[in-house]
Amino acid sequence: MSPFSLAGQTALVTGANTGIGQAIAVAMGRAGAHVICAGRSSCDETTGLIDKAEALKLDFADPMAAEDVFAGRQIDILVNNAGIIRRDDSVDFSQADWDDVMDVNLKAVFFTCQAFAKAALPRGHGKIINIASLLSFQGGIRVPSYTASKHGVAGLTKIMANEWAAKGINVNAIAPGYIETNNTEALRADADRNKAILDRIPAGRWGKADDIAETAVFLAAPASNYIHGAVLNVDGGWLAR
Ligand code: NAP
Repeated sequence: MSPFSLAGQTALVTGANTGIGQAIAVAMGRAGAHVICAGRSSCDETTGLIDKAEALKLDFADPMAAEDVFAGRQIDILVNNAGIIRRDDSVDFSQADWDDVMDVNLKAVFFTCQAFAKAALPRGHGKIINIASLLSFQGGIRVPSYTASKHGVAGLTKIMANEWAAKGINVNAIAPGYIETNNTEALRADADRNKAILDRIPAGRWGKADDIAETAVFLAAPASNYIHGAVLNVDGGWLAR
């Protein structure tokens, strides 16, 4: 079997209704996985694009929402993709914008990984892929809770890899660069910011959700079995600049 195949595996992707999560779910389906498309919004469009798929309602407004999802059935791959961003000057940033982002982007990621691990550790295998960000490495501007949460995702990816690598679970993250999705609509609509961003990307273009999706398939597949605790930049070269 190809080391890039996901045949016979079940993957759960959060935030699978749109953007990067939808592309990851579809790519994993194409690679042969049965895909559980999880979201707070309907994932019907995504399940319609995949041969073997099902939808699951998950809203991380409650960061413990996935607590009981993994017990009682075999889920081999977890992709923590759901995420939100709030913009304001740090001097004005509200507690609500802090808490909402930290709950979805960090607390929910940790406790979803924990729930997955409780089921996967006894089996001795599993793959976790967290979606980090360039702001796992850089500060950004006017997005303090997002930056804090994504630095946190990189750190959690490493600690969980340290604890679970020898027990058969790979924990890795992808740090997407600037990708064309709802998340970046405001940036692309601002002609000055759009130009400044494009001028800095060595590849000379915004990323596509599929650029991230194929990397996620690699990190879920046997080809990456010796990769643990990595935060892989998929950024058109941004961080190399
Ligand atoms: P997106 O199109 O806005 O998608 C975000 C996804 O997260 C949506 O499915 C959204 O559901 C879901 N979500 C938000 N809050 C949720 C909640 N409380 N419970 C469950 N799901 C929730 O943005 P995207 O660009 O694809 O983002 C996907 C991931 O990539 C995020 O973690 C983001 O931080 C990361 N990322 C994106 C970029 C980029 O350039 N686009 C760069 C770096 C990192 P709804 O549709 O229902 O809101």
